[in-house]
Amino acid sequence: MNTQPEKIAIRIDHDKCTECRMCYVVCREINLNAVVIDPGPKHLHEIDMDRCTYPGCTVCLMYCPAPASIVETVSGLSLVPPPARVWTEDKRWPRRAPRTGN
Ligand code: SF4
Ligand code: SF4
Repeated sequence: MNTQPEKIAIRIDHDKCTECRMCYVVCREINLNAVVIDPGPKHLHEIDMDRCTYPGCTVCLMYCPAPASIVETVSGLSLVPPPARVWTEDKRWPRRAPRTGN
């Protein structure tokens, strides 16, 4: 039996997503490339859970223009616009070194 806790991850809700590709662009811009295009006939955007570093990174949430189109997989929480608990400077930019506390 698998006793590993489920990884906290995000997914795109295609009932809300406009397929504008902004998440693809910004994720690529920060060199994480976690948004991929499904090779199926609709070419939908999907988030690759193995590459995505959420909750360490939340960049796509800041740029997505379609409310509720990105959700947390475990909690089902809508992350667009980002709720206060994910809106912290240190988590926002994954390339920034953690603060030292002084
Ligand atoms: S930025 Fe939001 S609306 Fe645009 S493709 Fe990504 S999830 Fe969909
Ligand atoms: S949270 Fe960061 S790594 Fe994950 S899909 Fe969004 S921009 Fe890419």
